[in-house]
Amino acid sequence: MTQTEDKEKKRTSVERYLLKHEIEKLEAKRSHNMSTSLISLYIPPGTRLSDINSQLRDEYGTATNIKDKNTGKAVQAAISSIMSRMKNLSSPGENGLVIFCGITQSNKVEYFLINPPEQIGIKLYLCDYVFHINHLKEMLESKKRYGLAIVARGGATIATIQGSRLNIIREEDSYVPGKHKMGGQSQARFQRLTEEAAQRWYTKVAGMMNEAYLEDNPVEAIIIGGPALSKAQYLENKELDYRLREKVIGIYDVGYTGIVGIRELLDRAQSKLTDFELVRERLLTQKFMENLGKDTGLATYGEKQVRDALERGAVEVVLVSEDVDRVNLVIKCEACDYQKVESVRTKEYSDFVKELSSKKCPKCNEDKVHIDEEKDLITELNELAESSGASLEVISTSHEDGATLYGAFGGVAAILRYKLYEGY
Ligand SMILES: [Zn+2]
Repeated sequence: MTQTEDKEKKRTSVERYLLKHEIEKLEAKRSHNMSTSLISLYIPPGTRLSDINSQLRDEYGTATNIKDKNTGKAVQAAISSIMSRMKNLSSPGENGLVIFCGITQSNKVEYFLINPPEQIGIKLYLCDYVFHINHLKEMLESKKRYGLAIVARGGATIATIQGSRLNIIREEDSYVPGKHKMGGQSQARFQRLTEEAAQRWYTKVAGMMNEAYLEDNPVEAIIIGGPALSKAQYLENKELDYRLREKVIGIYDVGYTGIVGIRELLDRAQSKLTDFELVRERLLTQKFMENLGKDTGLATYGEKQVRDALERGAVEVVLVSEDVDRVNLVIKCEACDYQKVESVRTKEYSDFVKELSSKKCPKCNEDKVHIDEEKDLITELNELAESSGASLEVISTSHEDGATLYGAFGGVAAILRYKLYEGY
């Protein structure tokens, strides 16, 4: 296992979620007057912070020459803020550091420090009216990608698995006649013709796989499913690129083609796919549903019930659908005592903030409303879980089990350590 894989594995679904959420928030920030005064600073590991400090001092001086005096002052305010906070840092850490700072829509200097999940490969100092988050965003994508293929006489399904996502790339039927059907022809001739048709079909599938798994972004490994005979015949096909042949790490008996077959393959190949969130998430969700179905008393769902179980220390693991995430925002006005709490979905967060910046206070009509405080449901549940010795998994809705967790159970569920109620 390489070092990056190791690190990727250590990152929990909560950490990934929190970083994703943080990035969404940063993405919504703009400079207060749309000037190029927001600073994005990427510091790679091994950089001497004293070097960064002297660079910042230079930039501070250069900012005096900026034509627009307000922009110059805003840049200087951001630089001062960064420099004063950097005094408390001794080194950039093993992955480096990313700092974002500047006067945002809130009309205040905002400062964000991010410990990136992977090593920062670039050194960057940039002033713009937005924060530059693309390098961080790239880190969120799991890089490991496997090919999953169902190969049968009757059809083929070419798919990939990456992180928590399953992508069906191609699905095709073969029209190879069944083996035991008698055409109007003699048995021998019929068999020869169907065999030829089958070979042509496997050649076509080999081409489909070469295209899907080798071009652009090659997969790391391939898992093949199908009826016993088809797989063996297929792997002998000369059209299958030798590089793909070397990547096959598992062959399993699977009775179906299409998405049903791919799901069967995921179940059978579980032990080879433990690095993928998709497989971990499906296992946990299935365990929850199994307990619920068998009435063991060890499963509960609903925000209130799960909170209750957490407070009583009865939870082993909390399952939260990534689609339930809500952020509770405390909106305040600087000019008067106006205050309101709004609950916003993370996906709507960025639009909400943009809208807020153009809104006037409903009480005093000044444009001084801003977000004073924010906390999201997943962060809150995670803190509760941590304090009661439970773990929390964020479950994506990109697969069927995750979609069921969200759709049928409201997206908040838990597997319990012990029964909370007798006669459950
Ligand atoms: Zn007001």
